[in-house]
Amino acid sequence: MTAGGPVLGPLETWARDWREHGRAEVCEAGTLQQRVDHAVRTLRFNLQWAAVNHPAVDEFARETSLIYRQCEAQVSGERRPRTVPVACPCGQTLRVTLDTPGCRCPRCGTQYGHSELMDLPLAERRIAA
Ligand SMILES: [Zn+2]
Repeated sequence: MTAGGPVLGPLETWARDWREHGRAEVCEAGTLQQRVDHAVRTLRFNLQWAAVNHPAVDEFARETSLIYRQCEAQVSGERRPRTVPVACPCGQTLRVTLDTPGCRCPRCGTQYGHSELMDLPLAERRIAA
């Protein structure tokens, strides 16, 4: 969101670094969006070169994948998988996600594996009497 923020700052730092190798151009004019676009374009253009020749390409890959994940989380607005309430036959509602490996029902003590949890019916919303 800002020039020194977690997206544009590192990207332009890499662009400046690559410029010293003659492999990128830095353009700090325009809106922040234009600067991000420019930095991404100039880095992508010589990505092949960097993968083979840049001494710190590992660090570059780590940093850009971190930036990518941060952007993705912001765009989707969702960091954690959605919780789904399923009903144990005993009447207990179990809150699971698609990633839950398994769980034990706190009421009747039945142990469920992942696929067994996915087979349980969705719990109906309790209606206040
Ligand atoms: Zn149960």
